[in-house]
Amino acid sequence: MTEESNSGIKIPADTIGRPKYVNQAVALILASLLVGCGGGSGSPGSAAVSCGPYPEQTTSLYILPYEVGTGHRMVHGNCTAPGTSHQTGGTRQYAYDFEMPIGTILIAARSGEVSAVEQSNMDGTRVPGEENFVMITHDDGTHGRYFHITQNGSMVTLGQMVNQGDPIALSGDSGESHGPHLHFVVEPAGQSPLVPRGGTPVTFLNTGPHPNGLREGTVYAAGPYPGCNCAP
Ligand SMILES: [Zn+2]
Repeated sequence: MTEESNSGIKIPADTIGRPKYVNQAVALILASLLVGCGGGSGSPGSAAVSCGPYPEQTTSLYILPYEVGTGHRMVHGNCTAPGTSHQTGGTRQYAYDFEMPIGTILIAARSGEVSAVEQSNMDGTRVPGEENFVMITHDDGTHGRYFHITQNGSMVTLGQMVNQGDPIALSGDSGESHGPHLHFVVEPAGQSPLVPRGGTPVTFLNTGPHPNGLREGTVYAAGPYPGCNCAP
């Protein structure tokens, strides 16, 4: 199964905009940013003005998709430069890439029903369409999509109901990816979760302020949230 298997059009995930480095120095400087799918970025930390608007964070329905007490660097943000994976106007413009080692526990950013699981692919193939993923459809029909999980890394099954904060998968480096990371995006209601349509702006309840979305290069720590089963 590929990301677009329901659409009939196979657009390899995260293939847009691989950076072409003009020299080694630039490559070295940017090395820490290259774990993202599609690689490269616009100008780190500066989302395009046309990006958003973002929902009020204090009433956000989402928490960061990793465990409370952990933190991960967001390496590829929303509405990035033309030719990059999450470019403005593209099918992944409101996705976030979080750098994390293979095997990191991913949790449900929001409660819902598991609507798709793929976990058969090996890590590190770099082949478009070989992404493993878990998708969770929320009660308003929107879909949370968790990409590049490791082979056999799903901790949930199709149709299972999960609560916000439940462990759902182990992160990985499957498919068209440039290094171990999680690609997370929320898609609007009204279509199959398998079809990327650019996503929708999201904020996360349990981390520092980000009124204009998460900023590239910043480590976001996941803190406690109302109802969490975590230490005070
Ligand atoms: Zn991505």
